Amino acid sequence: MSERCMHDMVVEQCVDCAPAPEGLVKHVFVTAGGSVFHRSSGCKALREGQHYALRLGMENHPPRRVVLAEARGEGRGACAYCFWDYQPA
Ligand SMILES: [Zn+2]
Ligand SMILES: [Zn+2]
Repeated sequence: MSERCMHDMVVEQCVDCAPAPEGLVKHVFVTAGGSVFHRSSGCKALREGQHYALRLGMENHPPRRVVLAEARGEGRGACAYCFWDYQPA
């Protein structure tokens, strides 16, 4: 029988409790205007993206902390700067 988590779900299927794939983390940061997720809200690439948006006169979105599964569900990929050691399968 599979192990169940505190949310009464099979651990591997629980968004909150499933272990992150190798090279990734369970919680990541996204911005509404970006297309990738970041390891930290202080990511250089994330900040540069925000400065770039500001220069273009676009609205600036504060980084949002989400679970990895949600970021991936939105079709985001890993930021190459934050997850330089991550090799997508
Ligand atoms: Zn859980
Ligand atoms: Zn990043």
